[in-house]
Amino acid sequence: LVRFENVQKSYDGEILVVKDLNLNMAKGEFLTMLGPSGSGKTTCLMMLAGFEPATHGEIYLDNVPINRVPPHKRGIGMVFQSYALFPHMTIGENLSFPLEVRKMGKSEREAKVKNALDMVQLGNFADRRPAQLSGGQQQRVAVARSLVFDPDVVLMDEPLGALDKNLREQMQYEIKHIHERLGVTVLYVTHDQSEALTMSDRVAVFDAGVIQQLAPPNILYEEPENAFVADFIGDNN
Ligand code: ATP
Repeated sequence: LVRFENVQKSYDGEILVVKDLNLNMAKGEFLTMLGPSGSGKTTCLMMLAGFEPATHGEIYLDNVPINRVPPHKRGIGMVFQSYALFPHMTIGENLSFPLEVRKMGKSEREAKVKNALDMVQLGNFADRRPAQLSGGQQQRVAVARSLVFDPDVVLMDEPLGALDKNLREQMQYEIKHIHERLGVTVLYVTHDQSEALTMSDRVAVFDAGVIQQLAPPNILYEEPENAFVADFIGDNN
């Protein structure tokens, strides 16, 4: 469904922060980019979302080069660490917004918004504003908003980074549950090894703009291909 082909990226003609990336994601897959800060993970999401052009190579969504499709037609939902909800809108309006952009009628919008809020157990919160919700609840809203328009792919960049440990574990479980229920394709970014290993079908371990190993969690654990992967996976702090 998603394919990075020989993708390179440098900002302002400087050093390559992504070096010759090749990656194929199957429909319905949960793939995590795991790696230290600055290793190029976010840049990969930005290119797939169309916010940053690739310097070299091509990214395909459903075999169509991503830059040939206008952003709102790409079917890509997004969740970031800072929830980025619109503070002046209610929760319901926040979720309705991406549907309005897609010119969906009012009754269909209302049904979709209700569905999405029910899915994250916030069915009674449609009339509240973001400031009246806890961090965990706001992050649930952000997840619901990324899914409300039935995207093919959801990009999640450190979505749980701002939450405390217990809430993080609870949300890992909820995101995984939603992924399984909807069968949506998820590209997830984290620097947290245990998060990557518990949630993913496959993990791409990044270092300095290069995938060091791409494999299911148990293989990374049992058969790391090099010292970097072994150290990074083994380091749980
Ligand atoms: P983090 O987890 O800290 O976000 P990351 O693995 O997601 O790290 P990127 O955010 O992709 O890494 O950053 C990779 C490199 O690209 C870093 O050296 C960063 O300074 C640089 N970089 C990122 N965005 C820009 C930009 N808009 N302009 C210039 N350099 C950038």
